[in-house]
Amino acid sequence: MKRFLVIFLIIGFQSCNSGKWGFKVKEINYNTYQISEIKSKQNNVLYLFLTSNEALLFDLGSNPKFKVEKIIRTLTDLPLSYLPSHFHFDHIANISNKTRILLHESQLINKNKDSIITIHKNLSFGERDIKFKYSRILKGDSCIQIGDRNLQIIPTSGHSPYSICIIDHKHKQIFSGDLVYNDLLLIDNLKEYINSVEKIIKLTDKSYKIYGAHKSSQVKYQKLLDLKCLLNKILKKDYQELEIENTINKTRIIKHKEIEILIKI
Ligand SMILES: [Zn+2]
Ligand SMILES: [Zn+2]
Repeated sequence: MKRFLVIFLIIGFQSCNSGKWGFKVKEINYNTYQISEIKSKQNNVLYLFLTSNEALLFDLGSNPKFKVEKIIRTLTDLPLSYLPSHFHFDHIANISNKTRILLHESQLINKNKDSIITIHKNLSFGERDIKFKYSRILKGDSCIQIGDRNLQIIPTSGHSPYSICIIDHKHKQIFSGDLVYNDLLLIDNLKEYINSVEKIIKLTDKSYKIYGAHKSSQVKYQKLLDLKCLLNKILKKDYQELEIENTINKTRIIKHKEIEILIKI
């Protein structure tokens, strides 16, 4: 049954340096929730998948004091696992203090016997290096069984080297992390980005809904198609029709249709 029961929980239970934090929780379909950090600078959106035997949180958000578990415990008692979409600081808040961290095999930066990952601050854009211990590795890019749910995890480098997206084919949903969302997109590696966008397009169609990791979370499917077109124009150095603004260090903001990207060219 499709339910668009909107649970609007704005919980200002926690004071921290930046003031009170609020969260908005919305059930986007049966057993999948979006949890928006509505007062954080980056406006991150996290996604919670409830399965028969565990709850999986896709992304950890941006506030190191963010107690997302308090919100989640109002929704489920299932054991909670965490899966970051990538390792930028605004997606891995407080990861060192978590147990049950899952990673996709494409996210193994360094392998060691103790299952410890070290994220250098140059990779996270954070203030310091971060270490954490993972508990499980998800393998392959076909559907992965998590409890009673089938989720496909797709490596999608380009915004960052260790990015992933999740596709829920049963509900025709794409959880795109920072690959595509409704704001300025950051391109780190153009060829890899194009490859990742094309991979998602091949596996889905216009009937799928896209949920990004920032701002208003639902993204029009057309935006993914327009993004592919824009990135290919840049690859071919076909800058006609594009609105280009120079910024510092050879970085440019390029606008086309509803898309705005930041890229070094
Ligand atoms: Zn990012
Ligand atoms: Zn982000």
